[in-house]
Amino acid sequence: MPRILLADLKQETSTFNPAPTPYDMFRIVRGSEIFNQFVDTRTELAGAIDVLRDSGDFDCVPTMAADSVSGGAVPTDDLDRLLGELLATIRCESEIDGCLIVLHGAMAGESENDPEGYLLEKIREYVGAVPIVATIDLHAILTDRMLKNADIIVPYHTYPHVDQYETGVRAAHNLIALLNGDIQPELARIKLPMLVRGDELLTETGKFGEAIRMCQQIEESPGGLVAGVNIGNAFTDVPDLRTNIIVYRDADRATAETEAAEIADFMWNNRELFKAELCSLSDSIERATNVAGLTVFSDAADATASGASGDSNEIIKGILQYGFLGKVLVSVVDAPVVQRAVEVGVDGEFTMPIGGQLDPQRFTPVELPFEVVSLHDGQFQYENGLPGKAGTTAVLKSGTITLLVTSVAVYVVGQMVYTEHGLQPADFDVVVVKSPNGFRPYYEDIAADIVAVDVAGSTSANLQSLPYKHCGRPMFPLDDDVEFSL
Ligand SMILES: [Zn+2]
Repeated sequence: MPRILLADLKQETSTFNPAPTPYDMFRIVRGSEIFNQFVDTRTELAGAIDVLRDSGDFDCVPTMAADSVSGGAVPTDDLDRLLGELLATIRCESEIDGCLIVLHGAMAGESENDPEGYLLEKIREYVGAVPIVATIDLHAILTDRMLKNADIIVPYHTYPHVDQYETGVRAAHNLIALLNGDIQPELARIKLPMLVRGDELLTETGKFGEAIRMCQQIEESPGGLVAGVNIGNAFTDVPDLRTNIIVYRDADRATAETEAAEIADFMWNNRELFKAELCSLSDSIERATNVAGLTVFSDAADATASGASGDSNEIIKGILQYGFLGKVLVSVVDAPVVQRAVEVGVDGEFTMPIGGQLDPQRFTPVELPFEVVSLHDGQFQYENGLPGKAGTTAVLKSGTITLLVTSVAVYVVGQMVYTEHGLQPADFDVVVVKSPNGFRPYYEDIAADIVAVDVAGSTSANLQSLPYKHCGRPMFPLDDDVEFSL
């Protein structure tokens, strides 16, 4: 039976976040434990394993899965250790007939700009000419090295991302077709000098969804294998940061090129739509004051989902400054505050500065009185079935503000990060999520209003506010007069 090697490496970097993502932040699952941890989740691995097992013709060879919450760049020693362990695990396996590699695609090391390209190159060196299919996030930063060392790369089609499982299914079907010798993939790839933000990216309702549906039509057409638009994580400031169009067709490069050009034109011609509309903090608070029911504040600038530090206190300061009277729920990463809460215990009180521990250039601590509501070990579950790892966690109250204070960054996207700590978002007047758009499927049913708040942060949708140094220039919308022609 053909042996299919499975591996997974996922982290999304904001190079503007000064707090690094060390080895210890990765949740590492090895060998057959991967089946126990991933099957029955909504992940790419689960989708791929289901297809390969259901076909009955393949032997899945799980090696290592290493996933971290998004964050700053991975320090060189930590990345060397991580990639070294992953590659060593892969080299323990012999007689591999195909590989299915799950990647995020927007990871950056402090010295390696393209860890995923390096990984695929090393896997290719080891396994030789057997088929390699990789999956990537919609926000992946595609590099020549990644494309060269994989037979097919399969990107997500949804934003917010709800098709991880389906992406694994698409990848496994393409891998099987390659193994059976049924297809000869030809790739068309177009690099677009644009970075995109804003609500028009929502694939169900926004303009960007039309580009994705063009990709899906290609995949459904005879000979269409895989198509996608990878918009890059705008906060991973590396030389290859840009938007990419990819179209794989079976033995038909010319058609793939025509289709990729159509999608590229569509993206470029609509570029002015793909900017974020942000609301000032004072206007956001006024909107929340005038709305009956829950207002969700999207703090995309401190989006731990995009790689920010998670220690912003900007919205807390605004709530205090503008005298908002409603009940507010917010999360902050601040290990010293958690430690103090543990020392005084549940129902204890203390006063201490909070915020700005990790990104002190952007956030200055604000001193607040706290009451300790509850303490937790920080182990919880996300909506996709995967575990969260917040470190010791405290729920604190300061006047009308309730704070979920974690020791390390976690995704504050769905409701479960709050509910698993005894907090019901529906009970509040304002809930802060640290996510630009991914929160929407989890909050649209309970929110009376959703506001994208314009505050500082290392993942601000106000891209001109960020200190880009490495990405190619000119780049829309960072520069005026950016030109693109096919
Ligand atoms: Zn993404």
